[in-house]
Amino acid sequence: MKKVYFDHTAGMPVDPQVFEAMKPYFNHFYSNPSSLHSSAQEVRRGLQNAREEVSELIGAKNGEEIFFTSCATESNNWAIRGVASRNRDRGKHIITTTIEHMSVMNVCKYLIKQGYKVSFLPVDNYGLVDLEALQKELTDDTILVSVMYANGEIGTIEPVKEISEVVHDKGVYLHVDATAAAGQVPIDVVKEGIDLLTLSSNDMYGPKGAGALYVKSGTRLEPLIFGGGQERGLRSGSENLPGIVGMGRAAVIAKARMRKERSRLTKLRNTFINGLLETISYSFLNGHPTKRLPNNVAVRFSFVEGESMLLNLDIAGVAASSGSACTAKTLEPSHVLRAIGLKHEEAHGSLLFTLGRQNSEEDVGYVLDLLPDIVKRLRVMSPLTPKEVKESV
Ligand code: PMP
Repeated sequence: MKKVYFDHTAGMPVDPQVFEAMKPYFNHFYSNPSSLHSSAQEVRRGLQNAREEVSELIGAKNGEEIFFTSCATESNNWAIRGVASRNRDRGKHIITTTIEHMSVMNVCKYLIKQGYKVSFLPVDNYGLVDLEALQKELTDDTILVSVMYANGEIGTIEPVKEISEVVHDKGVYLHVDATAAAGQVPIDVVKEGIDLLTLSSNDMYGPKGAGALYVKSGTRLEPLIFGGGQERGLRSGSENLPGIVGMGRAAVIAKARMRKERSRLTKLRNTFINGLLETISYSFLNGHPTKRLPNNVAVRFSFVEGESMLLNLDIAGVAASSGSACTAKTLEPSHVLRAIGLKHEEAHGSLLFTLGRQNSEEDVGYVLDLLPDIVKRLRVMSPLTPKEVKESV
């Protein structure tokens, strides 16, 4: 049976070149990079290389501003808690948005319990942050603004440079969660005015278990883990060398292929979106039509449930998602879809296809042939479908 994988936001394969680069760090270069003997030198070099490679992907000044973590969740937790704690003397107000990943949302909720004030900025129907609303929310007590670079569930890319100008006008730090965007679209932390940036290895064909936090030099940040002093005393614990080296190689490959892959995926994405909207009645796009990640096809269909469509797609060999993979364990509609103004039932009728390097036009064509019939069948079966819709599909 044909197998098509359209769930790259939830999990990506490791690039074969990345895998090869990692291998020697399991059983050959296994020394501790902090050791003094000569075999540790090679390992130190691997670690330092990876820092440079990740820093080059995002336009950081040098590798010294890259701190390795275990995942994007850790980086987000650290950035927000670390800035909040270290800058308590300056203020206790944080601004974020209503469409952030849970690893930002839940840290903010925790900080509220610790006595901080957090504003959750609403977004428009496309998921874009309103710059004027942001400006109004900033006060003398604000120490941090945390906004994602792009949202993996609806694909919308935020106006980070403009956000940064508003935020820096007030002398406030800007943290950006670039997990869904890094490796797909160009990011330049210097030009875009970003103080802290979250990255994940697996979201750019690197291994799971590795992530990074870019911290602009001079940023006041509390350590995350206390111990032997690794990562310049800010995140102690023996370094995950295979993961870190893999992440570095993944960054190099993503940067080298970005221009071509971005344009290839954008074309594929547009064919996919237009094909679905043209062949299925009562279908709509979630997120922004153009300010959008090249790999993101987020759509919704009235009078059908995402889960039923997913099961039918799965039977035909297609892996997709009904919303956020991170919230798929609950039946609550995704907070992101609710935040862009979708009603309960609209959010439940949503599907998310995230494209990747191995996807082809043929894969897109396969779903375009398949899905209209699935939707039609489900609508005909559902007592909730109005008669005229049953007849029209
Ligand atoms: N931020 C964003 C925007 C995400 O999409 C995700 C999930 N891929 C995360 C953070 C958390 O990533 P992880 O589960 O790898 O820590």
